[in-house]
Amino acid sequence: MGFKITYSVLDADMTEVHAAFDAALADVRGRLGGEVPSWVGGEPVESGSFLTSVNPARTDEVLVRAHTVGLDHIDRAVDHARSAQRRWAALDWRERVARIRKAADLISERRMTFSAIMALEVGKNRLESMGDVEEAADLLRYYAGIVEQNDGFIKPMTKLSPSEDVHDVLRPYGVFAVISPFNFPAALAAGMSGGALLGGNAVILKPSEETPWCTEMLYHCLADAGLPSGLFQVLHGRGETVGDALVRHPGVDGAAFTGSSEVGMTIFRIMTEDRIRPVLLEMGGKNACIIDKDADVGQAVEGCYKSAFGLSGQKCSALSRIYVHRSLKDRFIEGLVAKTREMKIGDPTAADTYMGPVIDDRAVKRYGDAAEAARSEGTVHIGGERLTGEGYASGNFVAPTVVEVPPGHWIEKTELFLPFVMVMAFDDIEDAMERANDVDYGLTAGFYGQAREAWFLDHIEAGVLYTNRPAGATTGAWPGVQPFCGWKNSGSTGKGGCGPYYVAQFMREQSRTRVG
Ligand code: NAP
Repeated sequence: MGFKITYSVLDADMTEVHAAFDAALADVRGRLGGEVPSWVGGEPVESGSFLTSVNPARTDEVLVRAHTVGLDHIDRAVDHARSAQRRWAALDWRERVARIRKAADLISERRMTFSAIMALEVGKNRLESMGDVEEAADLLRYYAGIVEQNDGFIKPMTKLSPSEDVHDVLRPYGVFAVISPFNFPAALAAGMSGGALLGGNAVILKPSEETPWCTEMLYHCLADAGLPSGLFQVLHGRGETVGDALVRHPGVDGAAFTGSSEVGMTIFRIMTEDRIRPVLLEMGGKNACIIDKDADVGQAVEGCYKSAFGLSGQKCSALSRIYVHRSLKDRFIEGLVAKTREMKIGDPTAADTYMGPVIDDRAVKRYGDAAEAARSEGTVHIGGERLTGEGYASGNFVAPTVVEVPPGHWIEKTELFLPFVMVMAFDDIEDAMERANDVDYGLTAGFYGQAREAWFLDHIEAGVLYTNRPAGATTGAWPGVQPFCGWKNSGSTGKGGCGPYYVAQFMREQSRTRVG
């Protein structure tokens, strides 16, 4: 395959890719119903207490059962992490970089199996699943390259006298808890863990309870790359129990979390209650796009469609609010509805499926509530119904939905995390900007138009911006290409994943002045 699978590779000849995916899927399907352990100190933990991962496209199909941990395992994991971290930090930084690069190569080598598991476990279509896996590998490579470009973060400083030798070094904190969400089980778990590991830390990963099988794949890629045993550990269990106990543990020196703002805020409070610990939070979004009067409507339809409905709207970067100039509104809605009507929805492992299911029954319930509110208080242009019948009966399938609601409606303010997008007309672009910024979040944003493009970039309150982009109005960031920084309640540090400042956040600064 002579090209990289990103979220926007759609034009290449994919015959070979699909054949490889089909073979991997057949193999993975032959292993349904197995068990995956938690991993503590390099050893599998088989507690006999399980959480079950099911296929969201067919919820009566059990994929794997994961052995969960108890409080004593968390204590043991922290002890192992502390001793492995000392060994890891004592290595030359070039050795750490080499091992993480090796892990990236193993992820790439195993990408078909990994993405087939992901399509089953998360309900992502096959190209998006492959993109997630490839992004995981590229994140590790990109972060390794950043450490290298910065000479391991060891910098000679100015000398005030010839007898002085002064260096500034970034050093690890120790043990990081990494807590990841369900929607990018390769890229986000690998990206946060890779950042922490390259910073010289140990990692205890508590993945989403929805994605233990994907996590098992990631664990082996890192373990097989030759990390010291106990340096990267996996604890399965529920967020409110295992995740909570992990971030409360006094032996945990920092946390990296990606997920909802609500959980992120809780973790932040716990981690900083009685001492200062670094907490890197990447959280939710309520991402807007403004379509101005001089926009190319075809381009806007294309980009908005992809960002509203890709991965069933379950991306933190998903588009959920569209502000369109009144002169273009009817044409735009007509185009978006027509394109949405043609969408292939169904089994995410099928080659031609664009949109799979949503993750669980809570998401289906959220969808039902929003659709009901839009029907009674606004206009539903397309969708608004749970999909039933052939191919949909036992899955969490909902129709992609385009609505109009009155300004200030809760649908305009609340992250839904669903294939559900709101359109609102504007007459004055200043009003559109005010509405776009009047939410608690500030993750991604898009713009279609010409004259006010630079003005948009300067006034929108979000960390990831795209203009006039048919490949996605608000989605599709890639490591080393689009740093992914959440503003406001979308992120805590002001520096994003995929970017040049990420790894440094897992380290603390020390200046060393030696005389003689
Ligand atoms: P979530 O419900 O917040 O869960 C995220 C992780 O936190 C899961 O591992 C969860 O475990 C764990 N958790 C839940 N309660 C916890 C607690 N009290 N203490 C410690 N850990 C706890 O999010 P999600 O539904 O998986 O993912 C969707 C959210 O992630 C959306 O809001 C989306 O915008 C956001 N997101 C943000 C980014 C970004 O880069 N900014 C990227 C992707 C997703 P369980 O699975 O066991 O509940």
